[in-house]
This record gives sequence, structure tokens and C-alpha cells, in this order.
Amino acid sequence: MRSAGIHHITAIAGDPQRNLDFYTETLGLRLVKRTVNFDDPGSYHFYFGDNIGSPGTIITFFPWPGARQGSRGSGQVTTVSFAVPPNAIAFWKERLRANHVIAEEIGGRFGSNTLRFLDPDGMRLELIATHVIPSGVEGSRGNYLKGSAAGSLPASAQGYGVAGDVARDDRIGGFAAPTLEVRKPEETEDLLTAILGFEFVAEENNRWRFRGRGSNASAEIDLVSSDAGFGQIAVGTVHHIAFRAADDEEQLRVREQLVARGLNVTPVIDRQYFHSIYFREPNGILFEIATDEPGFLIDEPADELGESLKLPPIYEPSRDEIEHVLPTIHLHHSAAS
Ligand code: ZN
Repeated sequence: MRSAGIHHITAIAGDPQRNLDFYTETLGLRLVKRTVNFDDPGSYHFYFGDNIGSPGTIITFFPWPGARQGSRGSGQVTTVSFAVPPNAIAFWKERLRANHVIAEEIGGRFGSNTLRFLDPDGMRLELIATHVIPSGVEGSRGNYLKGSAAGSLPASAQGYGVAGDVARDDRIGGFAAPTLEVRKPEETEDLLTAILGFEFVAEENNRWRFRGRGSNASAEIDLVSSDAGFGQIAVGTVHHIAFRAADDEEQLRVREQLVARGLNVTPVIDRQYFHSIYFREPNGILFEIATDEPGFLIDEPADELGESLKLPPIYEPSRDEIEHVLPTIHLHHSAAS
């Protein structure tokens, strides 16, 4: 396998409306899917990303109102980092300030300026000034579009633009080397390089950078060696990180390799928008391998993504009960530019 990098990252939030407002209104991402946790249909599952939900741009949340707060520690993705264009840091500093978000500027990680801040649930985020390759340019994303009825996309959904009011030159363009904190980095490194097809690219201050196939920022992750105790996965923490498989065949091949290593891997699970396998890597982080196909356009057109509650076929007969127990939420529409 030579993974193209991150497919999505899933985290746990508290209040659903506050989570929705922050990722759409403040960060300018688009809600690309409003659905339920397929393992717990009484709670929401929100997907935020670019205008069409391209793999590598998707951050998802299980909002658990009233649940306990988690804590950062080893065996976790401790920081979710997004790519912004090299000249966009000043814009984001001002935008975050205007939204009462306290951001700290970190100079030059691997030469890239970085803004660090917390989301409303205390999850650590970063915006990293980096070269962003728009979707549709990179080969694998081009294939993704072709496979997802790209021909029918409205002009507003082309490229990597998002639905909020952030101008194209400042927009978040997918992930950029999120931080995985682990006690024994060599064990995670071995899995990343031997099975998932990542390459070591650079080291700086106890931080090792790895890159999958392709040159997009979402192809990269950072491993940081940590003596910290294990983090507690709950509100404000990352639940799992998913890596991209080219197709179902590659996913099955990599599953066999993981099983041969003695890892406890789930069967392939149909997640409606992709097919997934899950396992814990040697340092305890929950990894997922997800296919690009079929994608988020399978059950609603590009210009209606996120507008209404979508349920997988098994839950459609229970739609009334599910809608009754889910908290009411409102999606504000910013003027798209
Ligand atoms: Zn996932």
C-alpha cells in the first residue's frame, strides 16, 4: 500500500450547535454531511470539509452534549492541523481575534508559520502556512471527482473552495501534518512505513514527519515522542484518524497484512460514504483505513450537501424517532464569495 495520506479525522464535541457554528462560521468549512453516528443513531455525526467533501479535507464530529471532558496525552492525535495558503496567516490571526479565539503564533515548524488555538471544546487546532494543491489537480483527487459525477457539479462546488465567507486565497485547504503523540514512535513508524506506505521526510525538535503518496499537505503526519500518560478520549479529543485506500482491493490487501502482524482489525464496514476497517496501532491510537469511494455525493447533490439529515437505508424506517431525539440545530448560511 502507498496511502495518499489522511482521509478524515474524527473527534468528539460537546454541544452540536456550538460545534457546527465554529467549524462553519469561524473556520469557514462546509458542513458536507449531516447524519447520525451509525453505531449510536441517537447522536449526530457531522462532516465538515471542502465544498464536495474531498478526502483529505474532512473533519468529523460526534457531538455528545453533556459528556465528560477528555484529556490530551500519549496514544492520541493531540493536534489537528489544517493547511492555509502561505500568505493567509495575517488574515486568520485577525479573523480568530474577531471571533474571540485566542491564537498563539508559533514560528517556523519545518519552516512554516503556524497559528495554534483551541476549538470551543478545548481541542487543539493549528493553521499551518503551506502550499495547498487544489482538489481536482492532484491525480487521485481527479479520479475521485470523476468517480463521483464531477460532470454534474455546479460551478460553486468546483475546486477546493468552501461554503463560508472566507475568500479563496485564505481558505483552509485540507489537513497539514497533524500531530500524533506516542510513547514508542519507532513502533508507529514501522507500521506507517512498512504497511501504510509512508516515507520519513524530516526531523525537528523530537518531531518526525512522514509523507504518503502525493505532494498535498494532507499526505503528511507528524509523530512526536511523548512521556505523557495516556490521554482520555472524550469531549475535546480526537477519536480516530483515517488514512486513504485507493480502492476496496487495496483495503483488503492491507487488511491481510495488518492481520498477519497480529493486529486486531475489524472486518470491512460500510460507512455509506466510504468503506472502512479499524485497528489500534501499537501505541494505542485508533487508525481507520477508508476508501475514497463512493464519496459524499452518493445521497445528495453537491449544492445540497449538509442541508438535511441523511440516514443510511437501515435507519430510514426509524427516521421519525431519530429526528425526535436529535437536538434541533440551525445551519447559518454565510455569503459565499
Ligand atoms: Zn472514521
